[in-house]
Amino acid sequence: MDINKLQRENIKNLRPYSTARDEYKGQANIFLDANENSYGSPLSENYNRYPDPLQLDLKDAISKIKGVPIENTFLGNGSDEAIDLLFRAFCEPKQDNVVILPPTYGMYEVSAGINNVEIRKVNLLPNFQLDLDGIAEAVDENTKLIFICSPNNPTGNSIVRTDIETVLANFKGLVVIDEAYINYAKQRTFIKELTEYPNLVVLQTFSKAWGLAALRLGMAFAARPVIDVLNKVKPPYNINQATQDLALKALENIEQVNEWIKITVAERESLSKDLAALAMVKKVYPSDANFILIEVENALNTYNALVTEGIIIRDRSKVTLCEGCLRITIGTQEENKTLLEALKNIN
Ligand SMILES: *Cc1c(COP(=O)(O)O)cnc(C)c1O
Repeated sequence: MDINKLQRENIKNLRPYSTARDEYKGQANIFLDANENSYGSPLSENYNRYPDPLQLDLKDAISKIKGVPIENTFLGNGSDEAIDLLFRAFCEPKQDNVVILPPTYGMYEVSAGINNVEIRKVNLLPNFQLDLDGIAEAVDENTKLIFICSPNNPTGNSIVRTDIETVLANFKGLVVIDEAYINYAKQRTFIKELTEYPNLVVLQTFSKAWGLAALRLGMAFAARPVIDVLNKVKPPYNINQATQDLALKALENIEQVNEWIKITVAERESLSKDLAALAMVKKVYPSDANFILIEVENALNTYNALVTEGIIIRDRSKVTLCEGCLRITIGTQEENKTLLEALKNIN
């Protein structure tokens, strides 16, 4: 993989914005170089100062948990920012294309649309696994990215590891593995394989298992050349100081997070069983995530009946390969019980 050929010409030639902190990094008593408010901030702490553009303290803490070096780590304003930056850095509008594998996460297609980049869809097989022949056929010399979501949203299953490895070994562009739900999965993460595959990008997020969707913090792990391109293209201060402070604090509570993961997985298994026992439920798909996809007799009716009870789930019945399907996030034990009762009472 040649990073110079892979990135867009204008990005290769781009001189990134140089911040005040880029130009002077040392210790000093008086900083009069960034037009900040020298008197302070209405909040305590140092919120009158611009945050670290490369978030090194936070990356250091993440690195200790993930075992991935800082230089292989990119932080985004949600993983959605990393997805958008991958398009902007690597895909020439109206010329390059990317491959996505429906049914899958909607942001890949939206980001492609915003960036005017062609999308090539290769549907998953009926068992929601990769159609390797279809992917090979869809790829051409202008294909820059392939998005593989594992565990996949909205189906919940993990993608077979050897199939992902086949794509990684054969595709010349970047293979983006979206691991938003990896903490709930039996399957291993791909972040340990970064040294093996220069074209691998792994996305993870603080929005799901870490319980910090409101902070907007996502991670991309990749080989150094890919990370360097993302850092060059990102807005200089894309992660604000409050997010950096709060995420650092959250990382001290990993035991709590691991406890929630355990409970969620246990609830997922018992809720799956209970749902399968309902007459209206035709199929419960196995899940490696914190949600379950089910097929019911009448998806829209079921959805509307639950809304009447004040319970909101996701109607996925119009999505490719998901006819009649609903997606249900695992709630608290109490919430799941209420959901089951409500479903039992639908005609
Ligand atoms: C929820 C989700 C994300 C998270 O996006 P953030 O921008 O980090 O909140 C990413 N990918 C998938 C597949 C998701 O379901």
